[in-house]
Amino acid sequence: MWVKWGAALLGATGAAAAAGACWWRWAGAGARAQRAAVNVLVTFDDSGFRCEQEIGAGGGGAGGACHHRYCCVHNLQRIVDFLDDARTCIDICVYIFSCDALAQAVKRAHDRGVVVRIITDFDMAYNNGSRICHFYEQGIKVKSKNSNNLMHHKFCIIDSPSRIGEIYSKNSNVTFMNYFLHKINQQHRGILVNGSLNWTNQAINGNWEHVLITSHLPIIKLFQSEFNEIWKTFKEFQPY
Ligand SMILES: [Zn+2]
Repeated sequence: MWVKWGAALLGATGAAAAAGACWWRWAGAGARAQRAAVNVLVTFDDSGFRCEQEIGAGGGGAGGACHHRYCCVHNLQRIVDFLDDARTCIDICVYIFSCDALAQAVKRAHDRGVVVRIITDFDMAYNNGSRICHFYEQGIKVKSKNSNNLMHHKFCIIDSPSRIGEIYSKNSNVTFMNYFLHKINQQHRGILVNGSLNWTNQAINGNWEHVLITSHLPIIKLFQSEFNEIWKTFKEFQPY
């Protein structure tokens, strides 16, 4: 189904709207709605509360009725959902990455053609339980830097418009349809996931942690710029 789009976006007072101008967009099967604005604070505490234990596995699973503030299952799922919703690119910059559910979401993104880049701490990359070697084997680009200091960031940028533009500009084989899709995907709101949380099971199941998830573009631009700076200076990960 084709529906009028532009007039609503411009608002009733817009000159174009007054003139009846509009675009049309496909809203039927396969349509990809623009992501709604997001400003969410996800918090974890030391209880490691899991609604599964309270009301049975699956009973409070994704889409279930659990609204417990500190439920690990649902709070983790909120981050996974944004990774699963990535269309074009994911840039991850985390000190430690060992959480299986997040690693699986990253692999799913990579498998569906999302361009994934990971920056991590050099020493932690080789730590027990680290998923970095798996990512390397899967063909995901990982960078780190051998240093006495820690790469201690914990942030992730999903579908940043500037990064989408960069990916498109480097692809000399784009067809008109690809260009069209990229332009549409660039309209998709970017997402920043940022906070104290390392991407480990320990952090999710038993620490006081916070994660701010936002689609606020000026903030996303600042974090993307920082990611790009680090990416330029760090070296490609090599397994032992
Ligand atoms: Zn729950």
